[in-house]
Amino acid sequence: MHWKGSVGGKRVYAPTCRGAKMEIPANTCSAETMALNRAFIFLGPPGAGKGTQSKRIAQSCGVAHLSTGDMFRDAIGCGTELGRVVKPIMERGDLVPDDLVMKMVEERLAQPDCARGFVLDGFPRTLPQAERLDRILEVCGFGKPVVVDFWVSPETLVRRLSGRWTCSVGGEIYNIYHAPPKVPGICDHDGGKLVQRADDRSEVVKERLAAYECQTKPLAEYYRRRGVLDAVDASASMEEVSRALGKIVKCAEGRDGHL
Ligand code: ADP
Repeated sequence: MHWKGSVGGKRVYAPTCRGAKMEIPANTCSAETMALNRAFIFLGPPGAGKGTQSKRIAQSCGVAHLSTGDMFRDAIGCGTELGRVVKPIMERGDLVPDDLVMKMVEERLAQPDCARGFVLDGFPRTLPQAERLDRILEVCGFGKPVVVDFWVSPETLVRRLSGRWTCSVGGEIYNIYHAPPKVPGICDHDGGKLVQRADDRSEVVKERLAAYECQTKPLAEYYRRRGVLDAVDASASMEEVSRALGKIVKCAEGRDGHL
């Protein structure tokens, strides 16, 4: 997949993974074009702040944001077959089996909005997922991914997760300890009721952290060996983490090639 950009108000085209043409506004030929044809992978334990930061990066780079956790929650909300299968797994804090994850991710990555790059939030989470993602990136002709590991202390994680409440209408995220809503239980933006994710209950949080330690943490070493791993101190404020990520994305501009 190659960028065919031109400037001056003209529209430009880039081939998608499926070979279809996709129209791209020419004004995306800016400092953010470095995001093109890249995968951003955010690693880190639950509660590290990957969701918030990955959405920001996707927005500023103008690429798709893919959260496998959100995709599963949507499937549960819509009552699909996939949703019925994954609901009890997620409620226990376990990981969804790789084949189900890969089928969902492969279908999503074939969509035209992923043709120019994407930010992955919560994926890959196991070594088999990472290996299969490598093959997808190869087939798509993407360069090396930008992989960022979010470091944060276990105490901070537990506080963040157990204090997290989400707007049931717009999805806005609050934390009762450090980012509370003005009126308890109500979203500042749209007045929606705030709800706690079923898997943010403390007994499930322990299971999720254990699954991370055992199955996802080894991925940092996997990407370190390929020379693509960066890290941020995710205990810092959201603004500080955003700044650190901005620098990493800019530095990644100079790297290319394949894994
Ligand atoms: P968090 O990172 O805060 O745990 P997510 O929203 O990313 O939250 O994921 C919620 C749950 O969805 C996980 O605990 C797991 O059950 C399931 N899940 C999400 N992504 C994956 C994945 N790549 N592989 C396996 N299970 C996943």
